[in-house]
Amino acid sequence: MGLGSIRQTVLVTGAAGFIGSHLVDRLLAEGYEVVGLDNLMTGDLTNLENARRDPHFHLEIGDVREPLPAYAEIIFNMACPASPVHYQADPYATVTTSALGAIRLVEHTRRSRCRIVHASTSEVYGDPLEHPQKEEYWGNVNCAGERACYDEGKRVAETILMDARRTHGADVRIVRIFNTYGPRMALNDGRVVSNFITQVLEDKPITLYGDGSQTRSFCYVSDLLEGLFAAGTVSEFDPPINIGNPKECTVAELAQIVMKVSGKNLELVRHPLPADDPKRRCPDITKAKKYLGLQPKVSLEDGIRRTYDDFEGRIARRRSR
Ligand code: NAD
Ligand code: UDP
Repeated sequence: MGLGSIRQTVLVTGAAGFIGSHLVDRLLAEGYEVVGLDNLMTGDLTNLENARRDPHFHLEIGDVREPLPAYAEIIFNMACPASPVHYQADPYATVTTSALGAIRLVEHTRRSRCRIVHASTSEVYGDPLEHPQKEEYWGNVNCAGERACYDEGKRVAETILMDARRTHGADVRIVRIFNTYGPRMALNDGRVVSNFITQVLEDKPITLYGDGSQTRSFCYVSDLLEGLFAAGTVSEFDPPINIGNPKECTVAELAQIVMKVSGKNLELVRHPLPADDPKRRCPDITKAKKYLGLQPKVSLEDGIRRTYDDFEGRIARRRSR
């Protein structure tokens, strides 16, 4: 967007979170007027330190479950805790954020005709029986399990938004995000990348849940942002679309990479595998390549190094306070 042109307004819900705050920075850099909405359930205002110095950024402390405050041409709905530790701490908040949030988005777009980019998740596939996961796969989710507040909340949000698309032509763009990591992840969110890095930085044993043979496909946040930004701006979109990095890695291999990056060798301690923990997860990104031009570039080792440096800086700042 040229700086001389009228700026489009974009609403980012979950703006103070890990991915939301990177998205805000990207949108400001691209010349948009950005409104950030967040109830600070898991977000951190320090993630928005740069954005808040920008006159084109406006922060609203509020909840996506309430009628949405701002007029916007595009809404990126990022609001929802993403780490199992966070989302299971308040399952009611998690499921209502996804379900009621989607209803609020539909109400809003019926009035304003704005475009909606919705952050769904690989968790809609549950513990998948097909591999890698294509968008056509319906998933294998335990609707009464401990992860269901997140998985089923995200599934019903997709249903609500796809119905709005079918029944009144809402411009709905659902992206199913696979495990993403990078600077600004909450230090204590309990996810595997943040746990391993903080454990190594604090010279503590590395906690391997199960035997560490389960896989995830980790995407560095700048690669994810390419797909997410494209989802809001391309002219043609066929929802839902997986976004992530298709390079699969076991959790045990991840532990080795974190130790290599740190130059340390620490003890690995086994913990029980959490309930319903998916055994394998890897996106098929054929659709994302076609519609969004997605081509992840950052290797896991490089991404972990950048994340490690960010965590090291934040932990040092916290200690010096
Ligand atoms: P995060 O917890 O860092 O960010 C979520 C943000 O949403 C936080 O700032 C939180 O305060 C806010 N929020 C929560 N409930 C809200 C509500 N009711 N109203 C307003 N704000 C609310 O998580 P993240 O990793 O940045 O994830 C962002 C989005 O991407 C989420 O929707 C998540 O489900 C999705 N996602 C993330 C990943 C990942 O690996 N990080 C993977 C799949 C999907
Ligand atoms: N995990 C682990 N040690 C930890 C945290 C997580 O072995 O300290 C495992 C977890 O059981 C899962 C994988 O790492 O198999 C990814 O967990 P995470 O919570 O990061 O995300 P998920 O993909 O399960 O939502």
